[in-house]
Amino acid sequence: MTLLATFLNELKTEQAQKQAIRKQNAGYSRSSNGNRYNRHQRKQLDPIAFYSGFGFYLKRGQKQQKVKCPFHDDKNPSMSINTDTGEYFCFSCGEGGGMVTFYMNYKHVDFKTACRELNI
Ligand SMILES: [Zn+2]
Repeated sequence: MTLLATFLNELKTEQAQKQAIRKQNAGYSRSSNGNRYNRHQRKQLDPIAFYSGFGFYLKRGQKQQKVKCPFHDDKNPSMSINTDTGEYFCFSCGEGGGMVTFYMNYKHVDFKTACRELNI
């Protein structure tokens, strides 16, 4: 009886250990998913770095910033850029969109080429 009880206890402990390991593995796979997500996030464009490549030096911490629109002959800054999302809109010529659209319009390339050149 005592031997059987010990055996059952050991069995329970072993099962508990296995469960704990399974839980750890589950946590590990979740965190590796998280890493994948982070890698993906890192691959996305940083608006400030992106626009600096076109000569627009935006300040961090200021959400909407105005620059001179490159899509029409702009005398005063009439293009607003959202430094969080990278979206732009020109109040004079109505040009607007996201960073990929900006790249397409600026470089006169199609969507596929823009994505390839931006490495996204
Ligand atoms: Zn414009």
